[in-house]
Amino acid sequence: MPKPKIVVVGSSNTDLIVKADRIPRPGETILGGAFHTAAGGKGANQAVAAARAGGEVAFVARIGADVFGERAIAGFAADRIDVSHVVQDMKTPSGVALIVVSREGENSIAVASGANARLSPADVRRAASKIKTAKAVLLQLEIPLSAVNAAAEIAAKNKVRVILNPAPAQRLDDDLLRHVDVLTPNEIEAEILTGVVIRGKKDMDEAAARLLHRGVKAVLITLGAKGVYVADASGRELIPAFKVKVVDTTAAGDVFNGALAVALAEGRGLHDAARFASAAAALSVTKLGAQPSAPARSAIDRFLRSRSSVAGIGI
Ligand code: ADP
Repeated sequence: MPKPKIVVVGSSNTDLIVKADRIPRPGETILGGAFHTAAGGKGANQAVAAARAGGEVAFVARIGADVFGERAIAGFAADRIDVSHVVQDMKTPSGVALIVVSREGENSIAVASGANARLSPADVRRAASKIKTAKAVLLQLEIPLSAVNAAAEIAAKNKVRVILNPAPAQRLDDDLLRHVDVLTPNEIEAEILTGVVIRGKKDMDEAAARLLHRGVKAVLITLGAKGVYVADASGRELIPAFKVKVVDTTAAGDVFNGALAVALAEGRGLHDAARFASAAAALSVTKLGAQPSAPARSAIDRFLRSRSSVAGIGI
């Protein structure tokens, strides 16, 4: 099967991480331990996850004309991601996240969105021919909503499937939601989108019903180690997560979304696609880091073969 074309429109960041005994207080300087950098940003993480899961991925983003942007591009190229629509912004630095991690594993994070905040509808429209010929467009909310809207509109007009991971959480207009084929909030994002506090199955039913009513065609509420709740016009089910040895859950949602986009673009049904995405995300939590933990297609297929079929529990 040829690889399905997927366009990811979103953010690219570099995480600058210092491990220290503790998180410094305001005004305080402490001598930290090891320093390392890691490629991140929800858009970039999802693009990498989709490419490794078997998609032919084009990434639409903005980076700065600096070493962080150059390194990000080199990383995308290593995953064979099409970067012809990654715009180098001459005025604004690449997005960075300054992270201090304490010995106890607590962290303190300050993000400078940088060039991500300047991704414009015009940037997205320049990638329209890529979007029109894609099988799926994958979006998140770390870039201006105007750019998200532009991508969703072009895709919807051309009957290209739109997958929106509404993270970081924020309220959204019905104008955007009615273009969305598959919405993938986690529990907190589902609460903020709908006002329904999610404590159990009844709340998920209610939150999903509200989102379907607002025009979304399918809702997948990801529930961490509990799995994923899937709802569309034909029914509702809970697909349990695969049991694995957890090392680091960073970017589990990003890997889930990247793999989900590939499976849907390959023409799989919602249940099968959610199961494929759960397998990819389960593999990712067994490894440290965001992008380094995104599994290759061969590993996802092997993992699924090794696990006896986990059927969805109709609820
Ligand atoms: P986010 O990172 O966006 O908050 P979740 O924590 O809901 O997203 O995780 C997304 C998906 O990743 C889950 O639906 C599940 O399939 C998988 N996942 C997350 N945590 C685990 C875990 N501890 N064990 C197995 N799978 C997990």
